[in-house]
Amino acid sequence: MTKSPILVWFRRDLRIRDHAALAAAVATGQPLIPVYVLDEAAGGAWRMGGAARWWLHHSLAAHQKALSEIGSHLVLRRGDSAEVLAGLAQETGAKALYCSRCYEPWAGRLEREVRDLLGDRGVEVKRFAGALLHDPDRLLTKAETPFKVFTPFWRSLKSGLEVTRPLGAPRGIVSPDRVPDGDDLASWRLLPTRPDWAGGLRETWMPGEAGARERLAAFVEDRLAAYALMRDRPDREGTSRLSPHLAFGEVSARQCWWAAKEAARRGEAQEGLETFLKELAWREFSAHLLHHAPDLPDAPFRSEFASFPWREDRAMLRAWQRGMTGYPIVDAGMRELWTTGFMHNRVRMIAASFLIKHLLQPWQTGEAWFWDTLVDADLASNAANWQWVAGSGADAAPYFRIFNPMRQGETFDPDGDYVRRWVPEIARLPAALIHAPWKASPDALANAGVEIGRSYPAPIVDHASGRQAALDAFATLKG
Ligand code: FAD
Repeated sequence: MTKSPILVWFRRDLRIRDHAALAAAVATGQPLIPVYVLDEAAGGAWRMGGAARWWLHHSLAAHQKALSEIGSHLVLRRGDSAEVLAGLAQETGAKALYCSRCYEPWAGRLEREVRDLLGDRGVEVKRFAGALLHDPDRLLTKAETPFKVFTPFWRSLKSGLEVTRPLGAPRGIVSPDRVPDGDDLASWRLLPTRPDWAGGLRETWMPGEAGARERLAAFVEDRLAAYALMRDRPDREGTSRLSPHLAFGEVSARQCWWAAKEAARRGEAQEGLETFLKELAWREFSAHLLHHAPDLPDAPFRSEFASFPWREDRAMLRAWQRGMTGYPIVDAGMRELWTTGFMHNRVRMIAASFLIKHLLQPWQTGEAWFWDTLVDADLASNAANWQWVAGSGADAAPYFRIFNPMRQGETFDPDGDYVRRWVPEIARLPAALIHAPWKASPDALANAGVEIGRSYPAPIVDHASGRQAALDAFATLKG
């Protein structure tokens, strides 16, 4: 008697290593049908943005290849997830579906929908952990409530539950005699064409599990030791740049955790290790917050911020989006984002603070722009960090702490190399002037070929008055 196949439903877990659902399905010895469903409606307002769709295309292509190398085939289908999966189960005689749990509020609802519809048709749905180090319901305070402050969360993560070792890759997968038909990836039109704005993304990234593994190995060998010192320097390659790979599940947080620990054991990277694990814990904390506060992407975590007097202004928003604010470090970050789908964390904080505080634009407008343009767009991390900068989040930076973009530039891009790379029109200015070009003498500007207001914008808002306006706006909340 032929064994009925198991559907393995891939989503943001596009890897074959350390994949508990895949490993469990392989262990049954039954034939497997890996499937990815493009469900355009899933996520509602938070459906995938443009840069993430570009990444998805390449990540799926890489995943198809990785599966084919171990004797399997990824079936691509498009439509309502529950309907498509139920149809596929019926067509193939599958009696079980295995998947990894996702933690976005809409994804959890979708999993329940799939479980109910398939359950009604006699198909068992099994969900496995894999996206996080720990299930967000397992790490709780002593009072068994969700954490709202990072430090005790981190302490509990570090000393409480063990982060188990990652699983290996399956050596082979049994396929059914007849593989079901699927869509051609190109027909999904995930890549931009008119215009094709993805040149910078292609130059910067190698989506897929192989690219993720390469990046992780290079990071722990070459950069982990200096990570604590270098992670705030956008002018250096000091961080891992693993975030898009983590967002698409091409590598698991557990693999990153263990790779870093093992590399530190071999070398002298204890300080770098501690800092890196802590950053992974911020990802975890963001997921924890979203899991327990599902409206985090849309509404302030601290409700008193609901009446904040924003000054919505499309021209200001547009200048920020295009990297034309006249503040070089902000503009460099926004242009890096537009070109590569990525922005260094320090610059994300500076650019977000500038939008929220100097320009008084609602944090949700910046969050939406990041969502569309980041290759690592992650609902939890994006929302939690925007709220952190806005001061409205859990354990957030106080609203009155307003980044000074010039000082931030001078501290974290001291030679101006990051600005020079992304804002070439002021590249010839010396380091001492590059973070505040409008203060340069006419001679210095002429020598560098800069004309403020013509070749590079004058500041869109004066720093001191922007800062004061932000503090005044904040004061209305308390009064
Ligand atoms: P590394 O420094 O190498 O850190 C390792 C990993 O730790 C990262 O890949 C990431 O998974 C995690 N991590 C690091 N810092 C944070 C953080 N502050 N919050 C959560 N996780 C963190 N990160 C996203 O993955 N997706 C987002 O949509 C996102 N939006 C952000 C929006 C704003 C306004 C800000 C200030 C930060 C945002 N971040 C987001 C967090 C952070 O900027 C990126 O995770 C980081 O820059 C990724 O670079 P890296 O992989 O080189 O990080």
